[in-house]
Amino acid sequence: MPEKYIGLDIGASKINGVVFDGEIRKQATQAVLARDDKEKILKQIKEIIQELLVSYPEIKGIGLGLPGPLDIKKNIVSNPPNLTGLANVDLAGELEKEFHLKTLVENDANCAALAESLLGAGKGWKKGILIMLTLGSGVGGGIVINNKIYRGSRGSAGEIGHMVINTDGPECGCGLKGCLEAYASEKFIKRHSDLSPLELEKRAGAGDKEAIKIYADLGRWLGVGLGNLANIFDPDIIVLGGGISHAGDLILKTAQEKMREMILSLLTRENIKISQSKLGRDAGALGAASLFSQ
Ligand SMILES: [Zn+2]
Repeated sequence: MPEKYIGLDIGASKINGVVFDGEIRKQATQAVLARDDKEKILKQIKEIIQELLVSYPEIKGIGLGLPGPLDIKKNIVSNPPNLTGLANVDLAGELEKEFHLKTLVENDANCAALAESLLGAGKGWKKGILIMLTLGSGVGGGIVINNKIYRGSRGSAGEIGHMVINTDGPECGCGLKGCLEAYASEKFIKRHSDLSPLELEKRAGAGDKEAIKIYADLGRWLGVGLGNLANIFDPDIIVLGGGISHAGDLILKTAQEKMREMILSLLTRENIKISQSKLGRDAGALGAASLFSQ
């Protein structure tokens, strides 16, 4: 029987936990607030793990997906911008002390990308280059090469959301100007409409020209990012997840057009695939539980 691991996706609004051994055996979630302090979040994390462990005491380890850049040496996420209560907290250390289980920490977008490579778009392959973009309130990114997360030399690779695509663009939360995140996330919609992304998507679906144009423009900017990624990595597939990706063809048509226009290699242009995430909201937790395969 395959070994069981706990995977926790710790986000700015929710903690999603799973017991996973190839199948999701149990799931537990709790709502969190971005401004919660360390003690409160830590208590909730422990409660979820406890709840999962009660049913499966044979668990072999715990994987954590957290927003923000990773410090590989210290096994911490150094500065999660949307969950400041956990900045520089040795979460793995705290949990290992409490539960006596090996605990691994990874960037949440990397976790989602790993899950897509192992269980989603790349399921079954041994070799392949997959890039995943999570388009939501921001843009998360992960690069997985032959089923291994590409972390860079220090653990901070894959910050695709902060690839600058327009140096004269709007200022990003990171301090740079014109990051992909300012164009391919809810931030773009907020700048161009008073409607929520969901409402705007509905209107676009009903044929509202203005709403359709906003999504088409967003798609074109996204395409600039995809074109750059395609030229640098020549990936097999780029997977799009997150709320904005649900707009589907409203953004995909212009995104693909722009991307293909930018791709230099004919072989890449003809063969690269763009697909929507197959794992949805559980991608992060599944990837966290899969960290022990790394
Ligand atoms: Zn940025």
